[in-house]
Parts: sequence; C-alpha cells; structure tokens
Amino acid sequence: NTPPSPQPPVHIKELDYVINRFRTLKTAVLNKGRQVVTKDKQIALLSSDRNDGFWERDSGTHNEYFDKHAHHLLGFPQGTLNKGQRTLLSLIHPDDIELFSQIIDDGPHNNNRPFQTECRIKSFRGEWLWVKFTCRHSNSGFNNKAGCISATLRDITERYIAEQQRRLLTAVFESSKEPVIVFDLDLKILAVNTALTQLTNYNEEFLKDCNLATIFSEHHDFEFFRKLKNTLKRSNKWEGEIRFSHTDNPDDVVIFWLSIHSVGTPVGCNKPSFIGSLSDVIQRKKIEDELRYLATYDSLTGLPNRRLYEDRIQHALSLSKRYNQVFAVMFIDLDRFKHINDTLGHSIGDQLLIQVSQRFQDVLRKSDTLARLGGDEFILLLEKVQSKESVAKIAAILNSQLTSPFKILGNEINASASIGISVYPDDGLTIETLLKNADVAMYASKSKGTNGFLFYQSIMNERAGERLVLENDLHKAIDNNELFLVYQPKVDLATGIITGAEVLLRWKHPEMGVISPMQFIPIAEETGLIVSIGEWVLKKVCQKMIAWQHRSLPQIPLALNVSVKQFQEAGFSTRVCKIIQQSGIDPSLIELELTESVLMDTGDKAIETLHELKNLGLSLSIDDFGTGYSSLQYLSKFPIDFLKIDRSFVLGVGTEGKSVTIIRAILAMAKGLDLKVIAEGIEYEPQARLLKEFECDYGQGYYFSHPLREQHLIHFIEKQYASRLSSDLPSL
Ligand code: C2E
Ligand code: MG
Ligand code: MG
Repeated sequence: NTPPSPQPPVHIKELDYVINRFRTLKTAVLNKGRQVVTKDKQIALLSSDRNDGFWERDSGTHNEYFDKHAHHLLGFPQGTLNKGQRTLLSLIHPDDIELFSQIIDDGPHNNNRPFQTECRIKSFRGEWLWVKFTCRHSNSGFNNKAGCISATLRDITERYIAEQQRRLLTAVFESSKEPVIVFDLDLKILAVNTALTQLTNYNEEFLKDCNLATIFSEHHDFEFFRKLKNTLKRSNKWEGEIRFSHTDNPDDVVIFWLSIHSVGTPVGCNKPSFIGSLSDVIQRKKIEDELRYLATYDSLTGLPNRRLYEDRIQHALSLSKRYNQVFAVMFIDLDRFKHINDTLGHSIGDQLLIQVSQRFQDVLRKSDTLARLGGDEFILLLEKVQSKESVAKIAAILNSQLTSPFKILGNEINASASIGISVYPDDGLTIETLLKNADVAMYASKSKGTNGFLFYQSIMNERAGERLVLENDLHKAIDNNELFLVYQPKVDLATGIITGAEVLLRWKHPEMGVISPMQFIPIAEETGLIVSIGEWVLKKVCQKMIAWQHRSLPQIPLALNVSVKQFQEAGFSTRVCKIIQQSGIDPSLIELELTESVLMDTGDKAIETLHELKNLGLSLSIDDFGTGYSSLQYLSKFPIDFLKIDRSFVLGVGTEGKSVTIIRAILAMAKGLDLKVIAEGIEYEPQARLLKEFECDYGQGYYFSHPLREQHLIHFIEKQYASRLSSDLPSL
C-alpha cells in the first residue's frame, strides 16, 4: 500500500489561477501599450502637430479607425466614427473620391515615405471642409498581418479659400489692361503687372528693386514725391497726373492719371501698402470726345443729330420765353429721295445727303442749327427771328440751293425738298407742338408739289386727320364694294386705232366721293393693303374679259399697274399665275405696268420674277419711264416689251427743247433694244403729231380719251370698229 500523494492545498490552485490570469493581463497590457506606441510613432512620423486627426485602415479587414482629434476636426461626437460602418470614403466629396482613391492606391507602399493629398470631407454638420491628408502605407496595422494605410488629417479650409482668392486677385491684377503697381509707404515697389512692365520696358525683377520715384523721376522731382507720401500717410489715397517717358524715346511724353488707394498692411509686411493704377489720359480724353461726338452728331453729314437738336431747341425755348423772342422750326424733307436711293443705290443716296447738307450750310448763319433727324429728314432751328417774311426768305433760299443738279459718281441728280415751318409762339408753346406742326406743314407742302415751303396753319391738322380717316376706311373698301375700275384707251399713233387700254383704279368713298389713286395708293402701299387690292384688280379684270368674251365683244389687251410693294411680295408671280389660269383668259391679253424702281430695287430677284411673268405669256412695260434714272443699257437685262414715256416729257413737247431731246433719245434707244414705246399724257394734237413724226408707236392721253367706265369703253371700241368698217379711219 502506497501512501496517497499529498494533494496541493486549495490555496495554491487559486494562486496558479491568479498567476495565469495575471500573465494574460500582463500580455494584454503589454500588447495594448505596444499598439499605442505604434500608433503614436506613426502619427509622429506623419505630423508634428498632435492636434491633427488620425485615421487608419486595415488592408485585410478594411476596418477603419478615427482618433479623437479626427472626430473633433470633423465635428463628430467622440467614438461615433468608429462605431458602425462609417468609412472615410463615405465622407469624401463625390468629385474627389476617384482622385483620392487613386492617390492612396498609387502611394509608395513603403513605411518611410509619406505622401500627401487634399480633398473635401463632409463634416458632421454637413459642411464641406478642405482636408489635407499626409498618408503612409505600413506593414503592420491593428493585427500586424496585412498591413495598413494611415493618415493624419489637417483642416485647411481657410487656407484653401484664401489661396483661391489670392489666385483670382493675381489673375485680375495680371490681366488688367491698365498698368498697376503695388508699393509701400516708402514708395518701394512690391509688385507690378504685365501692363506696367510693357509700358516701362523694365522687367519685373528690376522694378521690384526700384522706388516709385525712380521710374517717374524724369518729370517729377523729390518735392512731388514727398507731398505724395504725405498725402498717402494722411488720407490713404492720392490722385493726379503723372508723366512718363519711354526709355526708347525720351521726347515722347505720355501723361497718365495715377489713382492710388491703400490696401492695408499685408501679412508678412510691417508697412501699409498701396495700389496705384495708371490710365492713359490722352487716350481717355480722345475716347470721351469721340463718344460725346457720336452721341450728338450724325456720322454721315457731321450735322447735329436729334439729341443735340432737342438740346438746342430747349435752350431756344427758354431764352425766347424770357426775352420775348421769336424762333422758327423748319422740317425739310427731300422729295423722291427713296426713289433715288432705290434706283441709284445707297452710296449715291448718302453722297446726295452729304452734298445737300453742305449746300444748306453754305447759306445759313453760324447761329442756326441744321440737324439731320435720319433718312432724308433735316430740321432747322432759326433763333431770334425778326419776321415771318425773313423765315420765308430763308426757306426759299434753301429750296433754290437744290435747283442745280448734283454730280455724284458720274450721275447727274436733280433733287428738291419740301419744307414745313412752325413759328414760336404763334404755332405752339411747347417743343412737341412746334415740331409736330412743322411736320404737318411739311406734308402739306409735299402734297402741293415738290420744292416748296409752307407755314403751318391750323387747318392742316384737320387734313392730317383726314388721311387717318382714309387709312381706316380703305380697310373696308374692298368688302364694301367701293372700288371700281376705269379704262383709258391706248392708240396706235400711225393709224389712230385703239390697241388696248390701261386699267385705272378708283375708290368711291361713301362720304368723300371718288378718290384718286394718287391719294389712296400711297396709303395702300404703306399699310400693305396694296397686295389684296392688287389681287382684287387682277381678278376683276379677268372677270371682265370673260364677260366680254361671252358677249362676243372685241378683245383688246388690258394693262394693269403694279406697285413696287406688290411686286416685291414673296410669291407675287405665283399668285398672278394662279388667278389667270383659274379664270381661263388668254394671258397674252394682260400687260403689267411696272415702274423703274421695281427693276432697280431687287436686282437679280427682280429679273427672276420678271422672267416668271414673261413665261406665263404676259407683256411687261415700264411705266413713267425717264424719271427713275435707269440707264438704257440696264434695260437690256430685263424681258420688257414696252416703255411708257413719262407724262412730264410729253408735257414739255413744243415748249421745252430738252423734253424733245429726251424723247428722241428714248425712242432711238428703244429701237435699238427692240422695245415698243408708248407716250402717255398726250393732251393736244401738236403733241400727238410730233410723236407720230418721231415714230413713237403708241399714245395715250386726254387727247384720245379720258379714262372711261366699262360701258363707255365698249362703246368707244365699237364705234371705232364701225368706222374702220366704213374705212373712215381718224387720221392724225
Ligand atoms: P399711271 O400708271 O402713270 O397712270 C396714268 C395716270 O395719268 C392716270 O391717273 C391717268 O388718269 C392720268 N392721265 C392719263 N392721260 C392723261 C393726260 O392726258 N393728262 C394728264 N394730266 N393725266 C393723264 P390716275 O388714274 O389718277 O392714276 C394715277 C396713278 O395711280 C397711276 O399712274 C398709277 O401709277 C396709279 N394707279 C392707278 N391704278 C392703279 C392700280 O390699280 N394699281 C396700282 N398699283 N397703281 C395704280
Ligand atoms: Mg400706268
Ligand atoms: Mg404712267
């Protein structure tokens, strides 16, 4: 029997347990201590500022750790970033994530080499902070296995914004076209922009060693800069002229306006600084003068414009009120200027305006203000006027200034003007009324005939009102069946036989009676109504022709007048074609009368339209020929059949040698171009005889017949047919 081995006493077991427990605890404490040391070491490796935040990510587990400074920096309550799944990437601005990840991945995987990056991080309060990361890859992390990436975080938001602003200001400073210079209170130059280096021809390095006084010493002495400095000390700003000579040409002095302002004491400086900008005084003055001139003078004629005129008339009004003086306002409008512009071109129109304004100025006093309001409208202000007679005299002189022709680029141009006059105080007490009444008088003068003047009378305003009434009523004229046609026969001058008729439009106004086309066609053109009126005329003519056919009446060609506005309307020829084809009439029985301006106005487009009309089978003639400055050669470009010599030349036959010369020239030229010629406005037998002698083809005018109503025309034709049958032809 072996004796039982002695059992260790219970207290020793407990002691073992305690010892083991102690060992475990000791290891744990040691490990913990090692870990803290490692992290502190890591932080110390990355940053010298212990207030920087610290972040670490285990490359194996992807666990992240933010220390208390990182929490503080980002505004998170302590510990919250380490709980849950919060990752650094989830806080980075979406625009920065890609770059950040790339830099982290590409950063050197070597313990000793930290690298840096900056990006925006969302704080707990939702603000974007600019944070600078100093990062490092290391082989040991929490678990010492897969390694980790650690970084310190520093809030650089303020610095970042300041940097951005500095960059912006530098860009503004650099890009300024005006030379800018920054200096301190000793006038030592701190910075200059490119404009200043270009101006002085000194480079930036040289200038930075200079004093303000050295650059400008050639024209300014010590005393000048002493005073400048004192002013800056006292009021922080200075302004004045400063002179400078370019190094390459000392005689060439440039005068600048230097404006200096304080910019405070910049960081790193112990003295206040100033910024001075130089502007070119002469250049600025020149530009100012130019702008002032452009704003008040007409660039074409050099005359005052409406603005300056209004200033002057305002001044005249106040003087006249105070001293009981009389002044006159004249509206001057060139006659047929649009026509000249359209037919001869704008550059000739411009030259004409310049020459007209010169001729006017030649006879005016210095104290009179002649202004151009635009287009062909001039206005004249005559101050301290003695009597209406003296004003009338000046108006007559202005009219006579235009009587001799203008010679412009080989063209001889006859111009005339219509003048309307209002006088203060009789015709108005305000500028507005005086101008309006002079305008009304001008229109009245124009409607009386060209090249004249009229003083304003109160009755004129009633006439202007009448025109408005006409305009309103014309809109309803077609629907109310107030328009009708008359027909003026055209005869063969050799035989006296009727060969056709011109269709002329009339308007029977319910109150005013029959109104002449001379009065309402311009209104129809201005309002655009001419297009529908023109179509109405063509449709009516087609209807008449068909009706005459049904009655087996003799068919004669009918000529219709077409105004420029109508002709230029898009789709004109298409509409004409449609109307004629729908009616079923023979197109060769229709002739269109166009004016010269139709041809000159639209160039190639006009030729195209004319060909379209010609291809339809219509005949084309040029009405009022000789008034539109067309050259004869020009005509050969157009598919024209007839020329209608203007009434004014026929009127001069027998009284004016010039008219006969012109008619003979037109006839000779027309023959050369194979065109038939019609003379319009033949009122007397001698005119008819002479034109027949000159071998003009056709004639039209009161001598043969006034414009006739439909029934009278039919009667006229039938009578002639009957007399032809009895061989009793009327002879000239
Ligand atoms: P126009 O085409 O030159 O027409 C000739 C004008 O001279 C007509 O005036 C006619 O009555 C007038 N006349 C004819 N023979 C003589 C004469 O021996 N002596 C004088 N002093 N005058 C004569 P009306 O009918 O007053 O027409 C004036 C203008 O109105 C026409 O000039 C034409 O340009 C335009 N016009 C007339 N009807 C129409 C139309 O339907 N459409 C367009 N667009 N214009 C038209
Ligand atoms: Mg005509
Ligand atoms: Mg005519």
